[in-house]
Amino acid sequence: MIRYACRHCAEVLESPHSMVWHLEECCACHKPNWVPKVGEDEPTGPEPAFEPICPHCHAALPEQARPARKYVDECTQCHREIYVEPQQFLYPTMFLTEEQAGYINFIDQLNYWPFGRGSWQDYEDMKAHITAKRGAEPPVREVVAALIELTMTACQAREKQAGQKLIYKGRDVEPLLNGSDPKHDREEVLNLTAEVKKFEKDMRDAAKLNRSVAQP
Ligand SMILES: [Zn+2]
Ligand SMILES: [Zn+2]
Repeated sequence: MIRYACRHCAEVLESPHSMVWHLEECCACHKPNWVPKVGEDEPTGPEPAFEPICPHCHAALPEQARPARKYVDECTQCHREIYVEPQQFLYPTMFLTEEQAGYINFIDQLNYWPFGRGSWQDYEDMKAHITAKRGAEPPVREVVAALIELTMTACQAREKQAGQKLIYKGRDVEPLLNGSDPKHDREEVLNLTAEVKKFEKDMRDAAKLNRSVAQP
């Protein structure tokens, strides 16, 4: 549930996540409110574990303090790059591969946009949804792809609303645009979709190259 204050009378309201970007009537003053993307007490997710182990060769990394910011390191054993990401909820530990860091970057972008669906709660809801449908937990890339699609749907809905005068139960309602241009937002989501496709192709090509180096 998302908790938020009625913007007319400040009554604290609760709506399910499925009502994000939809109108809900305040139970106290009966005026409509847009359900915001992030509630006032939205959890940000668990912190990743601090386990200094190379994600490629699983060698223990030299002793170090828990980092506060992200950075790129190199394994002293296999000399491959390690992406250290202490603030993310996609993976259980913070020492990651370039591919994993890429998905963190994409979901951060979704979460940054006011209309985007990339919060920890969004991620958990989508993962549970796909898991229930299929009976197995989906890989991160699949959940991220589904959240990009959901964000695109939100963009299209906003674009439609932007040019309209909205009437909800007999009252005028302002479209909730947060000062941004929905058409431009949709282009940005399309750009992100293309970026993810290119990234995934690069990762596949790099994996192929690695295999051919390992088995000449
Ligand atoms: Zn109210
Ligand atoms: Zn290594």
